[in-house]
Amino acid sequence: MTSKSAAAAARATVYGYPRQGRNRALKKAIEGYWQGLVTADALRETTAGLRRTTWQQLAEAGLHEVPTGDFSYYDHVLDTSVMVGAIPARHRAAVEADALDGYFAMARGTQDVAPLEMTKWFDTNYHYLVPELGPGTVFAADSAKQVAELKEALALGLDARPVLVGPVTYLLLAKPAPGVAPGFEPLTLLDRLLPVYAEVLADLRAAGATWVQLDEPALVQDRTPAELNAAARAYRELGVLADRPKLLVASYFDRLGEALPVLAKAPVEGLALDFTRSAAANLDDLAAVGGLPGKRLVAGVVDGRNVWIDDLEKSLATLGTLLGLADRVDVAASCSLLHVPLDVTAERDIDPQIVRWLAFARQKTGEIVTLARALERGTDAVAAELAANRADLASRAASAITRDPAVRARSAAVTEADTHRSQPYELRAAAQRDRLRLPLLPTTTIGSFPQTAELRTARSGLRAGRLGTAAYEERIEAEIREVVAFQEKAGIDVLVHGEPERNDMVQYFAEQLTGYLATRHGWVQSYGTRYVRPPILAGDISRPEPMTVRWTRYAQSLTDRPVKGMLTGPVTMLAWSFVRDDQPLAETARQVALALRDEVNDLETAGTSVIQVDEPALRETLPLRAADRAAYLDWATEAFRLATSGTRPDTQIHTHMCYAEFGDILTAIDDLDADVISLEAARSHMQVAGELAAAGYPREVGPGVYDIHSPRVPGTAEAADLLRKGLAAIPGERLWVNPDCGLKTRDWSEVRASLESLVAAAHEVRKEL
Ligand code: GLN
Ligand code: ZN
Repeated sequence: MTSKSAAAAARATVYGYPRQGRNRALKKAIEGYWQGLVTADALRETTAGLRRTTWQQLAEAGLHEVPTGDFSYYDHVLDTSVMVGAIPARHRAAVEADALDGYFAMARGTQDVAPLEMTKWFDTNYHYLVPELGPGTVFAADSAKQVAELKEALALGLDARPVLVGPVTYLLLAKPAPGVAPGFEPLTLLDRLLPVYAEVLADLRAAGATWVQLDEPALVQDRTPAELNAAARAYRELGVLADRPKLLVASYFDRLGEALPVLAKAPVEGLALDFTRSAAANLDDLAAVGGLPGKRLVAGVVDGRNVWIDDLEKSLATLGTLLGLADRVDVAASCSLLHVPLDVTAERDIDPQIVRWLAFARQKTGEIVTLARALERGTDAVAAELAANRADLASRAASAITRDPAVRARSAAVTEADTHRSQPYELRAAAQRDRLRLPLLPTTTIGSFPQTAELRTARSGLRAGRLGTAAYEERIEAEIREVVAFQEKAGIDVLVHGEPERNDMVQYFAEQLTGYLATRHGWVQSYGTRYVRPPILAGDISRPEPMTVRWTRYAQSLTDRPVKGMLTGPVTMLAWSFVRDDQPLAETARQVALALRDEVNDLETAGTSVIQVDEPALRETLPLRAADRAAYLDWATEAFRLATSGTRPDTQIHTHMCYAEFGDILTAIDDLDADVISLEAARSHMQVAGELAAAGYPREVGPGVYDIHSPRVPGTAEAADLLRKGLAAIPGERLWVNPDCGLKTRDWSEVRASLESLVAAAHEVRKEL
């Protein structure tokens, strides 16, 4: 499509932009408001300024249409609950007293009232507040925020498109309100909800909106025929409204699949599809429905989920194919740019050559504009941009960072045998029993002990050069001495060193592995005012030196009881980082696994008899579509085994996971072939123990008996009761006693009392065996 130009003008747009502002100005303003340092008026003024700056930047970059309504004080799903009047009964008084404080009460709770539940937004690391609905829910339209933000953008003379969470996705993301029978399906409220959306659309039309975007990412997941029918009905009813703007129904994060024909037939004017992760499937499916004649197609070709520059020529080829399938093709990122950091030019510590490979929100906006221009005026109009892009891609592909021959050779030489322990579980278990000589119902913890302010100060002191290495290490050793002494005194059987040296369970390792980059300003919203700075997996991964052996060995030197080595597993190392897009995830996971394998083996050589490799992210990286899950779990579990299988039979491998539901990964848990697994279970009353038993899980299990997410200290009787529940499913020879997760967020006082209860409960129940 070199010189051929598109019939209509291709427009460049995005669905949303990072809300944070420079230097996380939004976080500072909102937290300042919570602390009473910033007035409500000042907060409103600051945030209006942030929105204005963002829109102006987007327009200056050449975007034709800017999104509105994507801004949020906390979360856009919570904003949608406000927009449709779904305020939980327990928050109504607060919302009526003061809308802003009531909003934050729903988000964060108050002394007396619990907040809405928070959960992951699809397979991203963004968390939304779960709508609570019931048969008695009465919706009422409140379009004030959407209308006000649209007017702000229009007042700047911009072409603006409000973005709303679509009605079907909103209901599919909701859960039954407390007290509502669990069988209640929020989707049954669709007929009640649609008139509210109709009213909001009419208000937006009246305020000057030509187009409104309705986001329906829930339609990229496997949906039942009833759910697809609901989607068809929703867009039929909204489509036939007289007084409405044009509707763009947006999908992202995966292919639309069986929802594509439904939306293609719907009386809406536009569809947005993701052409990054699932480009081939979406292209095939679009062709199969005969394209989108008469409709606007917004093509999400620039990846909104990673930090890499786009392959512009590849995207242009995709766009060229799409031109034959719709009346009008516009260019966008695959999803909101909320999931990437703001601006890579702020990164002064990254090698300038590598910075050229990276694109954050601002750079991705530029790519979208370039692509739209090429579509409209032909590639000659962007010849310079294309040449620079080609050069940057070539430099990345040829770099010694992305192509380390030693790493590649080692990875290619991995054999089936490398991914299996040398002996089957039964023989290993016997060897480990002989070596470890643990009592029945052995007690342990998950790894971290409280991260005190002192420890954080020491770490930042070291970084800033205020504290010398020797003084820092002495500080860490002192902490380890305290943690070990406490565990011995409390009577815990398998000790930990407490992880005082770790800022974060991924970052700590990323900083020591070759091939990982750290950013200084690469913040991404995790929830509310919490932002994380995921490391970037940029190149081939290797481990120049042992990463944890020094601290584990020191802890072991202080006690005769076994001290558990503690590592973060390959899948979690990927899940909480930005990953490469130039090779399959499976290959990246394998490289990380080999680096961890070296560490596991070094720990073993140093005398460590128990090594835990945490995989709390195994389930959250599960593909959105069931059909893609087996392939994922295959490489994910293989990477774990590759990391852990270089060990002797009498070295005991533990793993750990923490979330409420394990149903869809029980087989994968078995495939890890870990000798012991500890899991979150206290809140669900040991449910996972029964599930594992029913699935025939043959190895040792430590379902948590102490809920570490709450400051509550469990009593001995309560912990003993949970243990007895565990024993009903798992025999005493295979049951461990431990908390749900690490203790780093808790206070020492709670931890002391809780672990004492836990040990006392183990002693009590042992007598009954
Ligand atoms: N070993 C880690 C800790 O205890 C595990 C944390 C996690 O599962 N998220 O902190
Ligand atoms: Zn955990």
